[in-house]
Amino acid sequence: MTTIFGAIADDFTGASDLAGLLARSGHQVCLRLGVPSSPPTDSSAFEIIALKCRTAPVYEAVSESLAALDWLKAAGAQHFFWKYCSTFDSTPAGNIGPVAEALMAALDTDQTIYCPAFPENGRSIFMGNLFVGQQLLSESPMKHHPLTPMTDSNLMRLLAPQTTAKVGLADRLVVAQGEAHLKAHLAKLQDDDIAHVVVDAVANADLEIIARAYADAPLMTGGSAVAMALPHIYQEKGLLPDTPASALRPHIDERTLILSGSCSEMTQAQVAAYDGPAYQLDPLELQADGLAKAQDWLSRQKLADAPLLYATAAAESVQKVQQRLGRDEAGALVEAALSQLAEDGFNRGVRRFIIAGGETSGAVAQRLNIDQLVIGDEIAPGVPWCYADIAGQHCAITMKSGNFGQTGFFSDAINRLS
Ligand code: ADP
Repeated sequence: MTTIFGAIADDFTGASDLAGLLARSGHQVCLRLGVPSSPPTDSSAFEIIALKCRTAPVYEAVSESLAALDWLKAAGAQHFFWKYCSTFDSTPAGNIGPVAEALMAALDTDQTIYCPAFPENGRSIFMGNLFVGQQLLSESPMKHHPLTPMTDSNLMRLLAPQTTAKVGLADRLVVAQGEAHLKAHLAKLQDDDIAHVVVDAVANADLEIIARAYADAPLMTGGSAVAMALPHIYQEKGLLPDTPASALRPHIDERTLILSGSCSEMTQAQVAAYDGPAYQLDPLELQADGLAKAQDWLSRQKLADAPLLYATAAAESVQKVQQRLGRDEAGALVEAALSQLAEDGFNRGVRRFIIAGGETSGAVAQRLNIDQLVIGDEIAPGVPWCYADIAGQHCAITMKSGNFGQTGFFSDAINRLS
């Protein structure tokens, strides 16, 4: 099938979040982890390339994104999407603006939109300010994120230092007046040389208006939710068949491993609520004594009981560890430990992996050499089960972004495959 839509995501959970929302349409969605080394042969209508570039140096993020764009173009994609987190995880040295500008140049377009809103998960944008539930982003738990602490909520202010061209806003009052009004507003901004337009959205109905207004443009950027209406819109335009295939549900061996490296408040609650066997990794102990104790614990677990290994900790504890080890070093140490435990689990027969944390998921998926996933049922908004062959074995993996899912997420994920 010819690819219509090609997305580039800055992390693995974000990519699977977008894939899950697109797969709600019933159309086949394929997720590639990293830029495929060979040219496209069997691409799906919706192709997503997951990079692990959220906190990478700018030049690296830009060159990987351009390589991904080339692959998606070769697959036939005509509409492109740059996917980042619904909490806009990005420091002033971040990659959202630079990658958008590089993609705009490569696609020869003068303007793009920025809409990380995800109302089903409580992310909304009003007057350019991003909210998490009822809190401003900068007052939400995101202010304590281990890698990208968000201390400003204003998307224009966050974007301006990351871009060379001008930043503007299409506010909710414009969006609420519908597709034609929004299109006219965007055209007016373009006349004023405004290349980067933050677009307000507080509900799915706003996202539908935005998607319709921008569906013909070469490049959209945002969280996953603004892309949700696109399959339906492409269907209306005759770009896709009307009768999508049914959701994929292969049988997968029940041996399960849960790995959590996310320190978000939601993940903390999910770890606390899990009533299966659980083991906490302490980064300081890992550095001093290595991984043997955790590996020994795992080797004694019944894998059908879905053991949980987690480094998840509260903000104060993360801060203490970071002061001792350094922020990036602590993150890398934990990611390496959880990846090794995933490999140990796989070698002992684990075929279902539940991973919490964007960076963590990227590290684990890379260690397991997963290069391609097909998307199945959603467990929670933006968190689908995905299917992959790992060393010739059929496996299921779900990758949860830190803040997603309800408190019972780990059990919900297990039950969804039962
Ligand atoms: P999220 O999706 O919540 O942002 P990530 O996995 O992307 O989660 O990021 C969390 C980062 O914090 C990872 O790099 C992880 O290795 C690191 N980390 C996890 N536990 C700890 C800890 N106890 N102390 C310090 N850093 C930690």
